[in-house]
Amino acid sequence: MSHELAHGSKLMAQSEKTMSEKLAIIGSGPAGLTAALYAGRAFLEPLVFVGPAFGGQIATTTEVENFPAFPDGLQGPELTQRMREQAEKFGARMVEEIIERVDFSQRPYKLYSAENEYKVDSVIIATGATPRPLGVPGELDYIGRGVSYCATCDGFFFRGKEILVVGGGDSAFQEALFLTKFGKRVRIVHRRDSFRAGATLQKYVAENPKIEVITNTVIESINGTAPAIEGGKVNEVIFKNLKTGEVAPSAAEGIFIFVGHEPNSQLFKGHLEMSDEGYLVVDKHLQTSVPGVFAAGEIHDNWFKQAITSAGYGCMAAMSAEKFLSQR
Ligand code: NAP
Repeated sequence: MSHELAHGSKLMAQSEKTMSEKLAIIGSGPAGLTAALYAGRAFLEPLVFVGPAFGGQIATTTEVENFPAFPDGLQGPELTQRMREQAEKFGARMVEEIIERVDFSQRPYKLYSAENEYKVDSVIIATGATPRPLGVPGELDYIGRGVSYCATCDGFFFRGKEILVVGGGDSAFQEALFLTKFGKRVRIVHRRDSFRAGATLQKYVAENPKIEVITNTVIESINGTAPAIEGGKVNEVIFKNLKTGEVAPSAAEGIFIFVGHEPNSQLFKGHLEMSDEGYLVVDKHLQTSVPGVFAAGEIHDNWFKQAITSAGYGCMAAMSAEKFLSQR
């Protein structure tokens, strides 16, 4: 989408490089898009900076079975597309630019993309979180050559192959189930012998004949047919059993890593208060340490982390922003 198309005639009338807005929303996952819907319905005409990947994490998920109102489930990308259409219907404007720098020292606040500078009266930050790397030798080298963090994106490349899924949470279990469509076998490797994954997913996994679960085991390194820079692809991992100490190689061609997330808050370091882990600190109205700057979703919530809770936070942040703006 071109910049002009995204902004419409109102923005065209403004200066080429600096635009004044009531509300900017940074991020386009369930939190950002729900904030956009509520802000749109409050006539705030929010600008939504969609970021590097529209839809956030849920758009890389397959079947979503626990979002209310969809008893038959639906695919993650379809859920976010529907949210987008609903927000746009009420005046939200999607901007395909990435905010690279912020200035919250005085209002109007300033947001800078590579193309433009925006002056905004209030901001909702909904930049979410990103999959955490495992941190073992070979992992980063072989990204795209056997190592992946997105089953929806890459599962297809591992048809009939030996797949490993790392982690014991909902993501690992859900994506392992999805990957059974492709792999000749899917093994879940988990460092403990109990799981964070919910009971329903644990039941589905236990009942699936294509999935094996390896417990008390970590991956020590990921190896390939040749070094990645010479075109090598993953063909083996080294397992370590944490109970017995045994170290052994095992054949694997696709390694899907789901070991948690890190908040996308680097942009706000030095500008907003955050926890040691990088989650934004908010008050009960979701306001950050700067008045008029709110946060919604996994950028501040390190606990619930569901599409529906993020959507709820998006609603709350938009209501808070509306109140903040109407009092000024
Ligand atoms: P998570 O719940 O934080 O689980 C991360 C898993 O990775 C844990 O089992 C953890 O092991 C393991 N782990 C962490 N660091 C590791 C390391 N260095 N080496 C080996 N293993 C490591 O993350 P998630 O599964 O991505 O889920 C995130 C949130 O999204 C959760 O709230 C979840 O409920 C939600 N979610 C929900 C659904 C759904 O409802 N269908 C689907 C996906 C995600 P330990 O257990 O030993 O710490």
